[in-house]
Amino acid sequence: MTSSVRFRRHYKHETLLRYSRRLGYGEVHIYTDNCTNLVAIVAIHSTKLGPAIGGCRCQYYENTSAAYKDALRLGHMMTLKAAVSSLPHGGAKTVIIKPPHIENRPDYFRAFGDFIHQLNGRYITAIDVGTSTQDMSYIAERTPYVVGMSKNNEDNNPSPYTALGVFRGIQAAVKYKLNRDSLSNVHVAIQGAGTVAYHLTKWLTKNGARVTACDVKPEALQKMVTDFHVETIDANSIYDVNCDVFAPCALGGTINLETIHRLKSKIVAGCANNQLAHRRYTRTLFKKNILYAPDFVINSGGLIQAAMLYDYGNVDMVSHQIDKLYDTLLEIFSRSDKEK
Ligand code: NAD
Repeated sequence: MTSSVRFRRHYKHETLLRYSRRLGYGEVHIYTDNCTNLVAIVAIHSTKLGPAIGGCRCQYYENTSAAYKDALRLGHMMTLKAAVSSLPHGGAKTVIIKPPHIENRPDYFRAFGDFIHQLNGRYITAIDVGTSTQDMSYIAERTPYVVGMSKNNEDNNPSPYTALGVFRGIQAAVKYKLNRDSLSNVHVAIQGAGTVAYHLTKWLTKNGARVTACDVKPEALQKMVTDFHVETIDANSIYDVNCDVFAPCALGGTINLETIHRLKSKIVAGCANNQLAHRRYTRTLFKKNILYAPDFVINSGGLIQAAMLYDYGNVDMVSHQIDKLYDTLLEIFSRSDKEK
């Protein structure tokens, strides 16, 4: 089951309600603004450890229930990320159902900012798939409960920090599984050549790793070839690469019934959210003797950056905090082996 198939599903209201109760929600808001055509679902999973923080995703969905389910899954994951990184925050996510055309983008995000403001700081929004630092600036015109605006500086983009966390996570997985301190000649197959993958590849190649990458967009892939001389492969064949690490860095759900048995790597460690189409696949990977770095741990660098930027107004301590992911993952790997 691919992620796009997941988005096409239609869920009954009762199923969604059951699902939100199972995940332990929290509050879920559906906000519509007729002037701008905005339809936003804000899923605030938890505020127990502090104000909930989580990105604002703007993408196309075939129906509202699929968008709602995506928001629930992602918001829950943000709580896990915040907790595992010891941040004084809970988790949340916004899913904006992207229309075919956004007439007036500034007003669209200002309207969203008005809604965020009504939540009185229980939710802090940030960049995610389909939104930019400029969009965050429009939101900031209406509310202080936003982070990652374009006006400050480059450090507002979370992607390089997410990539740094994934890099440290791959180092931890290689140490644990292959007993190697160096990434020299370690072969990493990266699915997706987007923003995080680009920064991750920079770290990997600088440290001597061999990278094979794919993307459905040739221009994204070409940039990685030009800048880092990566090998390329067709997007459908990435699962078959005989490599040390498979790094899912595209969309969620790409490790599924059709693909899991094709994996030949010893490690799965990448940045995509919800990499496994179902959590039962953690057990399948375990049985296949493939070490899995849980997505919500290894990709929490971006959240750490957003939280520290919001709480302290700078990113001075972010790299130090991200470094801790290395030890956190070693501990998780060891517990996983002990407790099966
Ligand atoms: P991006 O949109 O820049 O990159 C994703 C890339 O994947 C695109 O180039 C796209 O063409 C490609 N792609 C899509 N489907 C593909 C397929 N089937 N095969 C190969 N390539 C495919 O996104 P990003 O910001 O780099 O994030 C990547 C993933 O990491 C997303 O799942 C995102 O939710 C997750 N994530 C990102 C951050 C962050 O800081 N940006 C933080 C945490 C998690």
